[in-house]
Amino acid sequence: MELGNGDKFIFDIGDGSVERMFALQIPTAFLDKVFIGHLHGDHFGDIGSLYVAGGIAGRFTPLRIWGPSGAKPELGTRAAIEAMEKMFAWDVAGRLGQTDVRGFATEIHKFDYKKEQIVFNENGVVIRSFPAIDGSVSYSLEWNGLKVVFGSDTFPNKWFIQNAQNADLAIHECFIAVPDMMAKFRSTPEAALQVGTKIHTAPEAFGKVMSMVKPRHAVAYHFWKDVDTTPRVLESVRSTYDGPLSLAEDDMVWNVSKEGIRERMTFFDEHSVNPPLAYAAEPVSAEDRVGYSPEIEAGRLDMRDVLEPIYKKASKALGREFEYPTK
Ligand SMILES: [Zn+2]
Repeated sequence: MELGNGDKFIFDIGDGSVERMFALQIPTAFLDKVFIGHLHGDHFGDIGSLYVAGGIAGRFTPLRIWGPSGAKPELGTRAAIEAMEKMFAWDVAGRLGQTDVRGFATEIHKFDYKKEQIVFNENGVVIRSFPAIDGSVSYSLEWNGLKVVFGSDTFPNKWFIQNAQNADLAIHECFIAVPDMMAKFRSTPEAALQVGTKIHTAPEAFGKVMSMVKPRHAVAYHFWKDVDTTPRVLESVRSTYDGPLSLAEDDMVWNVSKEGIRERMTFFDEHSVNPPLAYAAEPVSAEDRVGYSPEIEAGRLDMRDVLEPIYKKASKALGREFEYPTK
């Protein structure tokens, strides 16, 4: 979510999210706030990519992460993020003294998933969390008289109805229809019925939720938006809801203002790489380098004749002396 003042907030960061965000070419220094609805891979699986790639690509401050507690401490956001940092221990160690690693740190804000509460209140932006299912929360963001509600994974519940009142944009999950789950994923009828109606939100139920909330604009997301699934999702939603609606897909954008809400598609370069840096990196100290073991260093080929000229050229071009390092 990007506010009119440029402030940015990430709600859920499932697998593949970082590639999509990088394609938008937003400097990672501005992508430092992540609000996780719950700890399913399709909702937070790319947090490690933002942690590492964001740190390399110019976020020189800790990655700030908000997320729910779990039924047990080891199932909560803090345990998950601390484990992620441990997972990247080698990654970070190898970068010491090579690149600016100030961004390889986290600031974790864990909160009780069973409570309705304000979890963020800065610069006139108020973000609330409220229960969805056990260990899973939904969020609302209010700023400048506008309100967006984001459900993450949830079955229809009373907290969403209450917290989505007066929402300009209400984003709620909407699963594909049960017959299509059986056809497309070869689910057993029992599994399709259970997952499609009790664990997740069936399209008919999504429509009923939106009829109760009556947002300025409703967004159905989280279903496989394919040519063979979309017609039945739309038909089922329309059996219970007739208000403004988007069937979300990747790279869809909503411009929300007092005047109106406009659905658009992002235009981006699929082949883009890392976004430009917002700030210059700080110089690092060679002293911090871990270096290589004698056995591995002994295997290095002597390339001094071709590498040393690179240092000479850089020295000449930049008017400073760069010496070919011994390690
Ligand atoms: Zn999900």
